[in-house]
Amino acid sequence: MAGRIPQAFIDDLVARADIVEIINARVPLKRKGKEYMACCPFHNEKTPSFTVSEAKQFYHCFGCGAHGTALGFLMEYDRLEFVDAVEELAAFYNLEVPREQGVQQKRDDKQPLFDALAQANQLYLQQLKQSERAIGYLKQRGLSGDIAQRYQIGYAPSGWDFLVRHMPQQSAALSQTGMLVKKDSGGVYDRFRDRIMFAIRNRRGKVIGFGGRILDQGEPKYLNSPENPLFHKGLEVYGLYEAKQANRDLQRIVVVEGYMDVVALAQFGITYAIASLGTATTGEQIQSIFRATQNIVFCYDGDQAGRKAAWRALQNTLPVIRDGQQAGFLFLPDGEDPDSLVRKEGSEAFAARMDGATSLSDFLFDHLLQQCDIDTLEGRARLAELCKPLLGNMPDSLFRDMLYQKLATLTRLDSHKLQAVSAHKQTNRAAPKITRTSTHKSSAIRNAIALLLQYPQFASEIEIPAVFLQCELQGYGLLARLSRTIRQSGITSAPALLEHWRSEADFDIVSKLVQHTVHGADDLQTAKSVFRDSVDWMTKHYRDQRFEQLQNKVESRGKSGLSAEELQEYHALLSGPGPVDTDTAPQNS
Ligand SMILES: [Zn+2]
Repeated sequence: MAGRIPQAFIDDLVARADIVEIINARVPLKRKGKEYMACCPFHNEKTPSFTVSEAKQFYHCFGCGAHGTALGFLMEYDRLEFVDAVEELAAFYNLEVPREQGVQQKRDDKQPLFDALAQANQLYLQQLKQSERAIGYLKQRGLSGDIAQRYQIGYAPSGWDFLVRHMPQQSAALSQTGMLVKKDSGGVYDRFRDRIMFAIRNRRGKVIGFGGRILDQGEPKYLNSPENPLFHKGLEVYGLYEAKQANRDLQRIVVVEGYMDVVALAQFGITYAIASLGTATTGEQIQSIFRATQNIVFCYDGDQAGRKAAWRALQNTLPVIRDGQQAGFLFLPDGEDPDSLVRKEGSEAFAARMDGATSLSDFLFDHLLQQCDIDTLEGRARLAELCKPLLGNMPDSLFRDMLYQKLATLTRLDSHKLQAVSAHKQTNRAAPKITRTSTHKSSAIRNAIALLLQYPQFASEIEIPAVFLQCELQGYGLLARLSRTIRQSGITSAPALLEHWRSEADFDIVSKLVQHTVHGADDLQTAKSVFRDSVDWMTKHYRDQRFEQLQNKVESRGKSGLSAEELQEYHALLSGPGPVDTDTAPQNS
């Protein structure tokens, strides 16, 4: 396998790349002031909210929140893994990617797992061709060879050691992905036996797990791969890759319960069905579906369990739904599932049912109204109370305003008052103690980090106290680590720094702060002085905190309660600058 790509090459490449050039080759951009704009390639929209900053070498969409560097854009847009995106970017500039000898690329850790699952999938596909019983089963369910092929449906033969025997070299990778199960007595056996196998693929089309359905009677009817390094159930959905392959423009996506429903609908030409891989559809899953379409129809059985699952989906939709997006709820007649219904009625009738799905707002209020009698004052108060956590969790949007409006009509209360009460509650819960000081603190720290990302050269010009590295105050450690990384690697641009940070736990925070604009710090000179002020303020604040800690110890235990180092520090702080006046904190935010 190819060796590691030297970090220095990646740094140079990223520094050389022009994000405007890279994106413009794929999505035509129009200049608007200092930035470039286009309709976002990651969500459907009619007016552009996708911006590319030449100065920051960063893209950001105000509609869906997509953001990143040139390399990140290639990973998202071309659906590439990191290493492939580096190759692609290098090819754009006619550069050859060097490889270090003998060192395994860290990013390739998961490659053996992908390889093992791809190979297992191939074996299952071959086995299907050889099993008349399995083919007979699929035919009896009405599936054509074409659909089986498109959805990579295979067959795991009976017996305990099919994979064990056929892939002896990959035993470790198969165990790690849950394809093999460890015996108590030692040794391993196949998890999937005598089952129709549905390959679960990620957005890039790689197999990350399987769902297996039993052919005859038996339990469990469905068996899924367990969570593994490639497969996170709350994040992945079944069929999204296939739906995207079949539809250039996804007008809507219907969420159903099982694999069989997805493929049966596809067999009838409804190629935009997906299944969530657990009982409830999570917020993360809903977000990733909304990245592919503006319109989700959740389809459930009409029974008690179906209603309950639908309500959970609604609860998970409210915090992520944005203006322009819609969600509907379709409840099937008793005893039917999408598979049986589409067979009975045909695809047009099924599509008509989706057109007539209950809107999110109707489902929301119908459901709540069953629990309160709004002819009474108490009932109306209860309705307002039940809505509070649901609507309070929503992002600011016209849609939310409209829901409040409807609630106001139903409760005969003022909608502004209702919103204010909810908003108040939310703030209280999120941050119990918002004081002026903490606002200043967070803005000084945020500004310092944002400016260092924008001007990496500050790392060598303005020193960050070494004590920040171990400091528990939020953001201090991050600032110090960033500064150290810049000095050690000689990085000169934010995108290069960000690529260094990709595998760090706080990558998301850093990539958000890259976009943070420090008002008033437009030119280099001002930026530098705001940075210096922010670091000074942080230093003072640190000393202040530290002094208070030591002072408390002295007060409760006397000076003998301090260690020799602490005593020295205490005296140094006593003779140093006094406690910081919070009003001198930089005001920029
Ligand atoms: Zn977008």
